[in-house]
Amino acid sequence: DGSNIETLFKNSSIAMYQAKDGGGHTYRMYKPSMHDKIMSRLTMEQDLWKAIKNNEFEMYYQPKVNLKTGSIEGLEALIRWHHPSGKHISPAVFIPLAEESRLIHIIGEWTVENTCGQIQEWYQKFGDAVKIGINFSGRQFEQPDLVKKFKCIMRSKGVLPKHLEIEVTETAVMANINTAVNILEQFRELGIQVSLDDFGAGYTSLGYLKKLPIDTLKIDQSFIRDCTDNSNLAIIQGIIAISQKMGFKTIAEGVETQEQHDLLKSLGCDQFQGYLCSKPLPAKEIVHLIW
Ligand code: C2E
Ligand code: CA
Ligand code: CA
Repeated sequence: DGSNIETLFKNSSIAMYQAKDGGGHTYRMYKPSMHDKIMSRLTMEQDLWKAIKNNEFEMYYQPKVNLKTGSIEGLEALIRWHHPSGKHISPAVFIPLAEESRLIHIIGEWTVENTCGQIQEWYQKFGDAVKIGINFSGRQFEQPDLVKKFKCIMRSKGVLPKHLEIEVTETAVMANINTAVNILEQFRELGIQVSLDDFGAGYTSLGYLKKLPIDTLKIDQSFIRDCTDNSNLAIIQGIIAISQKMGFKTIAEGVETQEQHDLLKSLGCDQFQGYLCSKPLPAKEIVHLIW
C-alpha cells in the first residue's frame, strides 16, 4: 500500500493502530478509509486542545427527580462542546478521544471548576444550592493528585461536599478496581457521594458490589428504553431489589415516557432522569425549573 518507504511506513503504522484499537493480538490490512478516520481523529484532538484555550466548553444540567414526590432533588452536569464549525460533537465521541491523552485531566479539572463555580453562583443568588453530579472518566483515577485538586477547587469556591456527587461508570471502576476503590473512598471521606453509572451494562461481578464505596446505582438507559420487554423488566426489578437490600439509592436514566415513569415508580425506584422531565439545559434555563 505505497510506492515509497514513507508511505509504506505511514500506512503500516495506521494499520497497526487499528489493530491495537481492536484490542491487540490481532492484525489489520491497511485501507484508505483508515487513513481518513485517523486524520479526522488527529484533527479533532488538535481542536480539543484549542477548545480549552478558546473556552468552547459549557456545562449543561439535567434534573434528577424524586419518583415519589416529583420534586427535583439534584442535577447531573454534562459537558457540551461548541465547536467553531457549528457541528454537534457528542461527549460520547470526544471524551473517549480525550481519554487517550493528558487532555482528559485538563477537561476533567475544567468540569469540576466550572460546576463548583456554578454552585457558588446559585448559592449566592438563591441562598441555596442543589446537589450536582459530575461525571468522572476512569482515566482520571490515574491522576495522583486528583482528590487533592478536587478538594482545593471545592474550598476555593466555598462549595460544601453535600452539594457534589461523583458519577463513574461501572466499566471504569472495574477496569482498575483497586485504584478506583481507593480514590472513591477518599471522595466519600470528604463527604461526597458516589454513583455507579451505566449499571448493568458492564461486567461487575455482583460479589464486588459489597466492596465498592458507592451510594447510588444508576440503571443503564438500555434497560429503560424497552422496559416493557420481559427480560429488561426482570433486570430492572433485580437491580432495584439488590440496591435496596444493600442500602443504595436507585436512579433510572433515559426515562422518556409516562409509562416508563409509572413502572419505575411502582417498582420502588427512587429517582429518574430523562427527557420526560427535561433534556440537559444550560445553567440559565435550568434555574427556571428549580427556583
Ligand atoms: P452518561 O453519563 O450516561 O449521561 C447520560 C446521557 O444520556 C447524556 O448524554 C444525556 O444527555 C442523555 N440522556 C438524558 N436523558 C435522556 C433521555 O431521556 N433519552 C435519551 N435518549 N438520552 C438521554 P450526553 O450528554 O451526550 O453524554 C454522553 C456521555 O458522555 C455521558 O453518558 C458520559 O459518559 C459522557 N460525559 C458527558 N459529560 C461528561 C463530562 O463532563 N465528563 C466526563 N468524563 N464524561 C462526560
Ligand atoms: Ca452520568
Ligand atoms: Ca449513564
